[in-house]
Amino acid sequence: MRATVMHGAGDVRIENVPDARLVEPTDALVVVTRACICGSDLWPYKSMEPSDTGRRMGHEFIGLVEAVGADVRTVSVGDLVVAPFAWSDGTCVFCREGLHTSCLHGGWWGGTDQDGGQGEAVRVPQADGTLVVLPVDRDDALMPSLLTLSDVMGTGHHAALAARVGPGKHVAVVGDGAVGLCGVIAAKRLGAEQIIILGRHPDRIALAREFGATDVVGERGEEAVARVRELTGGLGVHSVLECVGLEESMLTALGVARPGGAVGRVGVPQHEVIPASLPTFFNNVTIGGGPAPARAYIEELLPDVLDGRIEPGRVLDRVIDLEEVPDGYRAMNDREAIKVMIDF
Ligand SMILES: [Zn+2]
Repeated sequence: MRATVMHGAGDVRIENVPDARLVEPTDALVVVTRACICGSDLWPYKSMEPSDTGRRMGHEFIGLVEAVGADVRTVSVGDLVVAPFAWSDGTCVFCREGLHTSCLHGGWWGGTDQDGGQGEAVRVPQADGTLVVLPVDRDDALMPSLLTLSDVMGTGHHAALAARVGPGKHVAVVGDGAVGLCGVIAAKRLGAEQIIILGRHPDRIALAREFGATDVVGERGEEAVARVRELTGGLGVHSVLECVGLEESMLTALGVARPGGAVGRVGVPQHEVIPASLPTFFNNVTIGGGPAPARAYIEELLPDVLDGRIEPGRVLDRVIDLEEVPDGYRAMNDREAIKVMIDF
């Protein structure tokens, strides 16, 4: 079968790889119908050391179940399913607490020994705990929004929950990528009164406004902090969604939080140490977040997508086929596209 393999920074290839197949009785075999490229895929695209074996890519996909192992109960051959960006059994102590990304029997797509979503088919471990059946056809118009439930919409929602967004809250979203834009949707959905987006790309800012952003801050660093404070009567915001993962963006996020506020970080940190230890201590700022348990949020967010109350699929602004994936990486890395969908 054909699949995406990254061999080093800037070196993405579509190659023949061994066919996906059932291994364990709890597996399902899913033929991918849609997938996407993630902002987090751009970190190795910028920095990966050259590798002979390469790294299979992709962790966001929808597909048709082609076969199931003997122990699979909740999905059947022919079902259209969405997979979250990590697999999980749904039954261990952490899954029952709603933290599926810490599943004792879970894991991550791609790498050197698992199939990735940016390929023709995927072996899905722990199929019962991982997959959610979608009540639509494979070419339904809602497909882009349904695909965001695999990662970016759940991740934006997670940032909002970790930042304690709620009715009447003043919120800042750091980052105008797909996750930041979904964070705006999540903050609005949870009742935020003011949503300030920090970003400077005109197409993304326009979408953020349509999703519910009330204010835009294009400045960076200390100037951005000063501007957010101006917009909040000098106080700062209750809730900050950190959707980038760089030290500078984290410093900005911590700088705009008001005393007693909370920062939800979902950008994969590219730095070792969380900055601003002393001011966040004296301001009682809570720092939370991590990889979103997207599986836990699919069932919560799915009705809103099916009813059209939220349209996170609008962040997918370019559609390509599998052979065009290397150019899709380039387009996202060059900021030509917010997020790229692969239609198989
Ligand atoms: Zn588990």
